[in-house]
Amino acid sequence: MTDPVAPPPLAEPMSREWNYHPDLPLADSSVFRWPPEPRFLAHWFARNWLMLSERMLMVGLAVLCWWLLYPPLESAQGFAVGWIAQVWAINLGLMVVVAGGLHWYFHTRKGQGKTLKFDRREMAKGNRLWDFADQVHDNMFWSLTSGVAQLTAFQVLVMWAMANGYAPTITLASNPVWFVAALVLLPIWSAFHFYWVHRLLHVPFLYRHVHSLHHRNVNVGPWSGFSMHPVEHLLYLSSLLIHLIMASHPVHLIFHVIYLGPGAAMTHTGYEDLLIRDKRRLALGTFYHQLHHRYYECNYGNQEMPWDRWFGTFHDGSEESTRETRARKKRMHARG
Ligand SMILES: [Zn+2]
Ligand SMILES: [Zn+2]
Repeated sequence: MTDPVAPPPLAEPMSREWNYHPDLPLADSSVFRWPPEPRFLAHWFARNWLMLSERMLMVGLAVLCWWLLYPPLESAQGFAVGWIAQVWAINLGLMVVVAGGLHWYFHTRKGQGKTLKFDRREMAKGNRLWDFADQVHDNMFWSLTSGVAQLTAFQVLVMWAMANGYAPTITLASNPVWFVAALVLLPIWSAFHFYWVHRLLHVPFLYRHVHSLHHRNVNVGPWSGFSMHPVEHLLYLSSLLIHLIMASHPVHLIFHVIYLGPGAAMTHTGYEDLLIRDKRRLALGTFYHQLHHRYYECNYGNQEMPWDRWFGTFHDGSEESTRETRARKKRMHARG
């Protein structure tokens, strides 16, 4: 590949740029890989839905929160302060517990040291790039103000629509097959939505004024995931509007809320897996998105979706991909 603006070959081999990286190049793990391979799909399904996984934890948490914490749909027929404040307080609490808990374990207590940590660096302090001159405080600020407020606003809007019959609803008894299918499909929908919103955010004008706030995090931690500019929160969380047309149970809505909010903390821990007694027990981050934070104009989606591969923006972790990505970035920003 000869590109006139391509920088010279990298001085550093890939392995010296990272504290840890998985086997490279990254394999194609899209669920839409063609031709379909039943064994690969069965493995994907089992890994996400039959073992301890982020998704199972989030579904469990959604059921518990619906049952014990969130106000019932009947109370959502009008926009009253009481139930809306309750939803906001629960969302704030969930964010603090999940992102704060992961931050405490990995970065304060250093529960597994640097094992499986992608970046060598610690969270930044004393740098004016960050509000409050502190990366973690800056990330907490954006997550807990605009993030939690907008997460709550979208949830409140959908709950109100469900309570008044403006959005289609189901019960487990009325449609058990769809109840389960929707849980499997929601992350796939959300990944599709995220890819396109994310590409839009990388248009140079929006990148400069909006998305660069999230991208100051090259070395990410749990609080980085949901740390976004308010305009990015608005676009990113609009994924929840699917419930206005898709028949849902409140558990689906809550799962989706947890997936987008606290879930973003789980995908940005900076570590690949949680180790329990030296065994990988829970996948908590992907090198795929870590590469996006390091090289910007690649891997806009996630591993489950084929878009990056189809549109030529897939970075497989190789030096060749890094060169291509840097050239693409130069071209995009020269035009912008
Ligand atoms: Zn990110
Ligand atoms: Zn980005």
